[in-house]
Amino acid sequence: MRKLALIVPCGSKYGKNQYLKSFLEQNDVVSNFYGAWETPNLSLLTIAGMIPDSFEVTFIDEDHGQTINFDAGYDIVALTGMTQQIHRAYEICDNFRKRGVYVVLGGIHATIMPEEAMLHAHTVIVGEGEATWPAFLQDYLSNRPEPLYVSKGNTIFSDSPVPRYDLIDKRLYKSYSVQTTRGCPRTCSYCTLPIMYGNTYRHKTPQQVIYEVKMIQEVDKNPFVFFADDNMFIAKQKSKELVSEIGKLQITWGTQTDISVAEDEELLKALYAAGCHWLFIGFENVSETGLSFLDSRQWKAKQLKKYESSIEKIHKYGLNIWGSFMFGGDHDTTSVFSDTLDFTLRNGLYSGSFTILTPLPGTELFQEMNRQGRIIDYDWSRYTFWDVVYQPKNMSPQELAEGVAWVYNKFYSAENVRERTRKIKERIRKAICQ
Ligand code: SF4
Repeated sequence: MRKLALIVPCGSKYGKNQYLKSFLEQNDVVSNFYGAWETPNLSLLTIAGMIPDSFEVTFIDEDHGQTINFDAGYDIVALTGMTQQIHRAYEICDNFRKRGVYVVLGGIHATIMPEEAMLHAHTVIVGEGEATWPAFLQDYLSNRPEPLYVSKGNTIFSDSPVPRYDLIDKRLYKSYSVQTTRGCPRTCSYCTLPIMYGNTYRHKTPQQVIYEVKMIQEVDKNPFVFFADDNMFIAKQKSKELVSEIGKLQITWGTQTDISVAEDEELLKALYAAGCHWLFIGFENVSETGLSFLDSRQWKAKQLKKYESSIEKIHKYGLNIWGSFMFGGDHDTTSVFSDTLDFTLRNGLYSGSFTILTPLPGTELFQEMNRQGRIIDYDWSRYTFWDVVYQPKNMSPQELAEGVAWVYNKFYSAENVRERTRKIKERIRKAICQ
C-alpha cells in the first residue's frame, strides 16, 4: 500500500512584533479567545476525502505541535500553506525531495506564486484542490504526473467531498471547521479571495453540511464548530434554511460574516436559537476615509454609518460580536488606535482582532505598494498580519507595531474584560427573556 502524508507546516504565528508577542504569550484571556481558531486544516482534510483506499493516509499538523518523521517511508507528501507558512513549507518540501519522496504543494501562496513553489515541489496545484487533486493522483498512479495542475474556473462546491475528520488528533484542537459557502462578492483590495475564487459565491447543500457536522460528532460528541465560510450570510434566505437545520444538531458554533447580517432580524433570531455563539465581523476601520482606502468599490465605507445600529441589533438577539480591525492604511494616523479602541468599548464587542494591514502577494494592495516602492520586507514569514512589512504613510513602522499592541493591552485589560463580561451576561439574560 502506498503511503501518503498530508502536512500542515508550522507558521510564524505572531511573527516578530516584539510588543505584541510578549503580550499574547502572557495573557490567558487572549489565548482563550483565540483558542476558537485552533482548528484542523480544512483544505487538506477535504482533499483527503478524495484519496482512494489504496493509499495509507497520515495527517500531520506541525502548526499544532505534531512532528514530521522525514524517514517514515512516505511515497507522496502533500502540503498547503499561507504566505506566512511558506518558508517552512519549502524547507519540508526540500527535505522530502532529498529523500526521494514525491512532493506536492498547493494552497493560496502556491496559487499566487507557482514559479516560486515549483522550485521546491515536484507538482504544484494552482487553485481549488478539488478540481485537480484527483487528476494528479490518477497521473501519479500512471507514472506521468505533471509539474503543474491549474483548476479551470470554479468547482461545483456541492460536489466537494466530506472532509476526513477521522484523521485528526482531536486533543490538538478547540474547534472544528466546516465550510458551508465559498467565496465572497466584496472586493477588498487586501484580500486574496478574489484571486482564488473570483467574485463567485457557492453553497453546499444543507444536507451536506449537516452530514459533515455529524461526522465531526463521531470524533467529538460535543464540538464547537467554526463555520469557516469567507462570508456566510450573503444569500439570506438560503442561510435561514441552513441555520434552521443546524439548530437541530444542538451544537455551539461561530462563523464569519459581514455586517449585512444585521439587515435580517429573522436571521438574527434564528442564529441565536440555533446555538450561534459569536459572529466574526470585519469592520476593519472606523473612519470613512480609512475604509474607502481598503476597497475601490467602497462597500464597507458605505456601511460605516450603520455600524453602531447594526451592532446594537445583533446584540439585541443575544449574539456576540468578534470585531476585526486593521491598522496602517494610507489614511490612518496614530489616532486610529484610540479611535478604534473607543469604538470597540463603546459598542461592547465581545472580542477583538487587531491586525496590521498586510499586502499579501497577489493582492491589489501588494501591487500598488510594490509599484510605489513601499514594501520594506519580502520575507514571507513576516506576512503574519502582526508585523509591519511596508512603509506606512502617516506613522513609522515602529509606531504601527507598537500601536496594535497598545490596543490589545487596553482591550484585554482586566478592567475592560470584567466590564465586557458583565454586559454580555446582561445581554444574554435579556435575549433569553425575550
Ligand atoms: S468582505 Fe472579507 S472575505 Fe469578502 S473580500 Fe472583503 S475581506 Fe475578503
